[in-house]
Amino acid sequence: MPRTCTICVHPERQAIDAALLAGEGYRNVSERCSVSLGALSRHRDHVAPALAKAREAVEVARADDLLGRVQGLVREADAILREARGDGEGRDPNLALKAIDRLTKLTELFARLAGELREGGTTVNVAILTDSPQWGALRARILDALAPYPEALEAVRRALAG
Ligand SMILES: [Zn+2]
Repeated sequence: MPRTCTICVHPERQAIDAALLAGEGYRNVSERCSVSLGALSRHRDHVAPALAKAREAVEVARADDLLGRVQGLVREADAILREARGDGEGRDPNLALKAIDRLTKLTELFARLAGELREGGTTVNVAILTDSPQWGALRARILDALAPYPEALEAVRRALAG
């Protein structure tokens, strides 16, 4: 059975990893953090995967944040569209068309966003993004808002497919 790495469970692990990544000498780290050189060299193989995982978490958080912002804009455009399309005082066909145009652009923005994340080599995030319930709800909302406008709906469908 493999021995548990004493650095991985060390309370100062983050500081030790940071020092190793910063290129601080093993002897220095060993003395400063009171850990053995042997333990440090065994731990060396555990630093990179931990770093990759941390980077991935940051990427996912960033993607979620961007998605949240796009969602906020969609909600606003959607609210404007509902009012402009309604029978109340806010009825305004020109404004409705502008809101539709904005919803279409937001969809394109989302598609581009997903494409950029893919180019960044973080395909996992694109999967998370487009498989997420948030994205499903956003897409349903856009398609619903555009239902009375077949041409716009078709344009959005094409953007989503591409
Ligand atoms: Zn370790």
